[in-house]
Order: sequence, then C-alpha cells, then structure tokens
Amino acid sequence: MKLLFTLFAFAMMASACNQPASENKSASDEKTSEMAAPAANKYTTDMVVNTKDYSCGMPTSAGISDTCHYEGKAYGFCSAECKAEFQKDPAKFIASNQ
Ligand SMILES: [Zn+2]
Repeated sequence: MKLLFTLFAFAMMASACNQPASENKSASDEKTSEMAAPAANKYTTDMVVNTKDYSCGMPTSAGISDTCHYEGKAYGFCSAECKAEFQKDPAKFIASNQ
C-alpha cells in the first residue's frame, strides 16, 4: 500500500513538473499574437495631427482605420465614411474643431 502511494505521489510530481513547460509554451504563443497585433493596426496617433475624428468626434486613440492628407498634414479617421465626409469640406471641419 505504501509502495502504491509512493508511485501515486511520484506520478503527481511528474505531472506537476510537466505543467510549467506547457504553460511557458502557451505564454510564448500569446506573446507572438500580441506582437502581430500592432502590425495590423497600421495607423497610430503619432502619424496624424488630430486627436479626434473631425467627422464624428471619436478620439483617434480609439483606433484609426483611414487617413488623408490636407495642406501637408495627416488626419486620421475611424472609418472611410468619416474620411469621405471630411474630404467634402476639410477647411470647415478643421475650423470647427479648433
Ligand atoms: Zn469617425
């Protein structure tokens, strides 16, 4: 009976020793997907002069999916629709957001 317990305890220890290895593997997998995320987000707030979407007022820090250039400056927008709205009359949007 003692031998059986010893074997059982050994088996538990062996499986416990295996666990950190598998945890490390999944942790490194997560790190890989985290590193891939910024590449998908191609525009950053550093690349645009506006801190908010001039068409809808959403902060550009929430995500920029489209940009356009006007008078040598880059403006970020949450969507192509907002960019199109801005491009109809850029001067009006810039004036009303200053
Ligand atoms: Zn927008």
